[in-house]
Amino acid sequence: MEPKEAVLLSSILHLPVGITITSVHPSATELVVRIVCCYSSMPCPECHQPSTRIHSNYQRTVGDLPCAGRNVILALTVRKFVCTTPTCSRRIFTERLPGLVESYARMTGRLIALVQALGLVAGGQMGTRQADRTGIAHPIHLVTPSHAVACSPNTSGSGAWGG
Ligand SMILES: [Zn+2]
Repeated sequence: MEPKEAVLLSSILHLPVGITITSVHPSATELVVRIVCCYSSMPCPECHQPSTRIHSNYQRTVGDLPCAGRNVILALTVRKFVCTTPTCSRRIFTERLPGLVESYARMTGRLIALVQALGLVAGGQMGTRQADRTGIAHPIHLVTPSHAVACSPNTSGSGAWGG
């Protein structure tokens, strides 16, 4: 993807600064957007010293707000860094993508907010049907709005989206 196209698409999708789109894969029902964080260093969450030493990376998918009736799935390449501070107890840490998705969440913060709003306004099956109509689906399984409300990081529900 041309850098100019990536910047334009990032703007259209309203992605935070520092997130770069590497490719887009549209289908009839989905728009898979591959993204990476472009910062060369990340601060250790323990000692707050920046590290540029990458240990490894892994793939992670999160649902985002639908676009023109299609599910939007962000396919993230998440890096793990080595903390190089000798006195720090943290050896390896995962980069954070603040403003987009929390650690272990399977939906972006803005999709969680929309699903919660649907769940609170419509509730149960009615909220699920409305989510279907607007093209909202969980990347793996459709999450009902009531489940999203119960499991969101902002509530005290017992469930958590592990990952
Ligand atoms: Zn550290």
